[in-house]
Amino acid sequence: MKKLLIVAAALAAIGAHAQSYPSKPISIVVPFTAGGPTDRVARDLAEAMRKPLGGVSIIIDNVAGAGSSIGSNKVAKAAPDGYTLLVNHIAMGTMPSLLRNMPFKVESDFEYVGMINDVPMTLIGRPTLPAQNYKDLSGWIAQNKGKINLGNAGIGSASHLCGLLFQNAVATDMTTVPYKGTAPAMTDLMGGQIDLMCDQTTNTTQQIEGKKVIAYAVTTSKPLTTPALKSLPTLQESGLKGFEVTIWHGIYAPKGTPADVLAKLNTALKAALKDPDFIKKQEALGAVVVTDKRVEPAEHKKFVAAEIAKWSPVIKAAGVYAD
Ligand code: ASP
Repeated sequence: MKKLLIVAAALAAIGAHAQSYPSKPISIVVPFTAGGPTDRVARDLAEAMRKPLGGVSIIIDNVAGAGSSIGSNKVAKAAPDGYTLLVNHIAMGTMPSLLRNMPFKVESDFEYVGMINDVPMTLIGRPTLPAQNYKDLSGWIAQNKGKINLGNAGIGSASHLCGLLFQNAVATDMTTVPYKGTAPAMTDLMGGQIDLMCDQTTNTTQQIEGKKVIAYAVTTSKPLTTPALKSLPTLQESGLKGFEVTIWHGIYAPKGTPADVLAKLNTALKAALKDPDFIKKQEALGAVVVTDKRVEPAEHKKFVAAEIAKWSPVIKAAGVYAD
């Protein structure tokens, strides 16, 4: 009898928690530096999710480093109460293969709230590079073997994956310069400290429009429709057969977060993804907000598992790991 009462009290507490959720600010961990593409998506999403979550404050906590594994690990180990969430990207699908010592498990240490968007990448160069298009760039690469610096956001990041595939495709090793996010890498690229970088259009569109960097190509299989990016060729049509990388973002909570809280978060996510302001901001930066089934937690979980399976052999063949 005593046991039953304890169980009933515990269930009532969980129910009460879910009913009153959220009753204090929510923190979204972005595992990269502020001002970069993941940060941008998370900040815009936080603004769009605020209203459907009853106007609660949503704070962005940038916990950058080690290709997103430090910030992701913080959320994996956080209290499962819905007040600490993670926004991350394709790294959820590539970290398990790129990092030898993962401090957490992507598939079992998180509850999946849902998917946010798909984002193309662009190959960009410092403004002083003597190549104005991809054809000239490939000539410049051939002449400068051993001297080229390629920026990225650390082992396991999207820019790392894309840069890795690019080096393989052009059969040229480059010196990779890791940052804690592509925001500081972009500053150095614009300043001419590094030569090349792959990065999401959510970080590169404005710099391309402002001619602060030279844009060579997009990494998707089809050209883009965003006005600032639609004249860019794909890497495939530039001669890199089969080259295709599309970044995506999702939102996650620590394993064990109550189902009612997760349902509220998913409902708020769906509302945000239908918010015309959010859609407009994302589209202007080349991102495509996901709809329908892909937003569902179970569907997103299946998608991430498929991404892990897709990238693992590619990464193994490239032979790149980090501890
Ligand atoms: N674009 C970065 C990456 O390469 C991450 C970031 O700074 O948002 O993964």
